[in-house]
Amino acid sequence: MKTIIFDPISDEALDYAYKHLDEVIKWDDVKDEDLLDCDSCIIRVFKLDKGMIDKMPNLKIIAKHGVGTDSIDLDYAKIKGIRVTNTPAANSNSVAELIVGLTMAVSRKIVGSHKTVINGVDRIAPPELTGFELTGKTFGTIGLGNIGSIASKIFINGFAMKVLVYDPYISESRCDELGLTKVEKLEDLLKESDIINISVPLTDSTENMISKNEFDLMKKTAILINTARGKIVNESDLYNALKEKSIFGASMDAFEVEPINKNNPLLECSNFIATPHNGANTVDSLIRMGTGAIDEIIRTKNGEENLHIVI
Ligand code: NAD
Repeated sequence: MKTIIFDPISDEALDYAYKHLDEVIKWDDVKDEDLLDCDSCIIRVFKLDKGMIDKMPNLKIIAKHGVGTDSIDLDYAKIKGIRVTNTPAANSNSVAELIVGLTMAVSRKIVGSHKTVINGVDRIAPPELTGFELTGKTFGTIGLGNIGSIASKIFINGFAMKVLVYDPYISESRCDELGLTKVEKLEDLLKESDIINISVPLTDSTENMISKNEFDLMKKTAILINTARGKIVNESDLYNALKEKSIFGASMDAFEVEPINKNNPLLECSNFIATPHNGANTVDSLIRMGTGAIDEIIRTKNGEENLHIVI
């Protein structure tokens, strides 16, 4: 089987691909003629729209390196009978750890503190850098999949936090088992949470899920953390909430336009921290995602059932 790897993957995963796949074309070596006879491909952020899929008439499997498949035209891939797989749990731990890091960075104004020190300080513990503790506060997670559940566990075990869950697809009994409280309405989570975490996929029902109405419901002391997808949060409404200080602060790892432009107005806000879609960007997770995507191609090559099927 001929495989095109459209985006860079870790050295370890690339070695694994060379060892286990028949023919591998890597990102900077791809030529138009390779598209014509490739059977499989691996993508991270590469866009596979209808036009791109049509350029690969032999394609049998698209193996997504990561979770979100919104850069793939899934409807069209389905029509063409192309299998799409992903690596659902491979990066969850890394993203969950970033959620914790960003939460602490906002609540304790860590980035602002560092900038202040660089510019020179004339006193210790400046009042404008006063933050707040997480212990005993309420962590509200929108989405309790792989990432939301690991983050919830860390906040419960590490900070004795109460966890509220808004996820219509998770049962109340599952939440009870995990020691979490399920809420039926998003507004209940927004009103009660100190930290509001977004860990849902981008879909028609989640696009713009957090806009002005939702910011208006949040506590003045609330922190919003979005490591999922940019379009789930309305960026101009977030900007207004941060400028008006109707919430304490926010951090996002994903943006409407990526990579985020340095002129994005959100970056003017001192109560905002941006990271460049870095959630899964750890050595550990990159190896797991790369080898996980390759394993799906190996399964297809061997005529075995795929493990993580998207369509
Ligand atoms: P997951 O599929 O395990 O969990 C998603 C959860 O969202 C599920 O429990 C589902 O029931 C819930 N959900 C779906 N629609 C919902 C809705 N309308 N309201 C409330 N809940 C809803 O996915 P995951 O691994 O936890 O990842 C979550 C998202 O994080 C991904 O879809 C991806 O977009 C993003 N992500 C970002 C990075 C990064 O680098 N920043 C890395 C991995 C994933």
